[in-house]
Amino acid sequence: MTSTDSTAQGAGRSARPLLNPRLAEFGTTIFAEMSALAVRTGAINLGQGFPDTDGPAQVREAAVRALREGRGNQYPPGPGVPELRAAISAHQQRFYGLDFDPDTEVLVTAGATEAVAASMLALVEPGDEVIAFEPYYDSYAASIAMAGGVRVPLTLRAPGFRPDLDALRDAITPRTRLLLLNSPHNPTGMVLTGEELNAIAELAVENDLLVVTDEVYEHLVFAGEHRPLISLPGMRDRTVSISSSGKTFSFTGWKVGWVTGSRELVAAVRSAKQYLTFVSAGPFQYAIAEALALPDSYYEDFREDLRAKRDLLSAGLREAGFTVHEPRGTYFVTTDVAPLGEKDAVAFCRALPERCGVVAVPNSVFYDDPEPGRTQVRFAFCKKQEVLQDAVARLGRLRLGA
Ligand code: PMP
Ligand code: GLN
Repeated sequence: MTSTDSTAQGAGRSARPLLNPRLAEFGTTIFAEMSALAVRTGAINLGQGFPDTDGPAQVREAAVRALREGRGNQYPPGPGVPELRAAISAHQQRFYGLDFDPDTEVLVTAGATEAVAASMLALVEPGDEVIAFEPYYDSYAASIAMAGGVRVPLTLRAPGFRPDLDALRDAITPRTRLLLLNSPHNPTGMVLTGEELNAIAELAVENDLLVVTDEVYEHLVFAGEHRPLISLPGMRDRTVSISSSGKTFSFTGWKVGWVTGSRELVAAVRSAKQYLTFVSAGPFQYAIAEALALPDSYYEDFREDLRAKRDLLSAGLREAGFTVHEPRGTYFVTTDVAPLGEKDAVAFCRALPERCGVVAVPNSVFYDDPEPGRTQVRFAFCKKQEVLQDAVARLGRLRLGA
């Protein structure tokens, strides 16, 4: 996994490394490394996935109002402010017909990242196996490690990146505690189909497994639709469903995320969460409550805007000689740089700013065994049209061998 400089020795005390060995393989995240590279070189940053335009002005103003009116400036309630819990519950009903009691079945977290970490700490005991798709979103491996769990990868392979359900069945052992799933999937853009969701749900029920689902890109599906696994038969009481406002409303810095699930599972996750941050983002919670209630047209326009950007960047990358794995969801496109004569995604990404003034992220660091992703490179398209056009023009220079 992603790692640099993580083995520093304790100065003069002993030969013992400073960093807990469970975390030794996790150095600086690739996102931090590549964003720093973008700043240093002045390159266009299509690496770390954050929009270059803030979300709706009325949502930002709602946060300003909350700050001015003193709502959320002191510790909000541990589970989240009632307005936001009600809005999350209404969102689950409106988009998926799912009922969650805002008082006991909804928990506000410091982004999806804390929700994943708290779920692992709450539900995984040392030695428990956690099955997750690879390439992984990088915080998964670290969160499993912090809980003392053992990660078991289920490799998604190009083209298509569909999960191999027979391999999933084979990966389940008596030590398997939970499945940690992500759909729409970062970085590949894969979106689980109804059939795949049914098969996964059946396996979970058959083997009495818990499932944690990361659905932060739920509103960015370009082909088909997002269906929460928790809505399937037998899944209501065994699924922790996670999402976040960062992607949907383009305020990634606010870190307002949430968990929905049964009273028992939400209580378990809350037990861990209360000792991680206790609470966060007070005034922003009120603003996201308003954001969630935006009309359907907001969600549709957001998706269509990103669809156009996906198409623009994908066409440009193809033109520049990349193999493009068109994403069905998320705001990332995974490419293969082998047709450009490249052999290693990390080396390619480190050199790219110098070669043409663009930053991207190597997918190989999101695999336990980097081989299947050795030449895969991810580009984010949550950027202004003109920035993407400029990036495409720059990437075109690669073809000319400049
Ligand atoms: N899960 C996935 C799949 C992500 O891509 C991200 C990052 N954008 C997160 C979780 C983290 O979300 P948050 O910023 O809400 O913590
Ligand atoms: N989720 C974002 C991405 O995949 C990055 C978030 C982070 O920097 N940890 O690019």
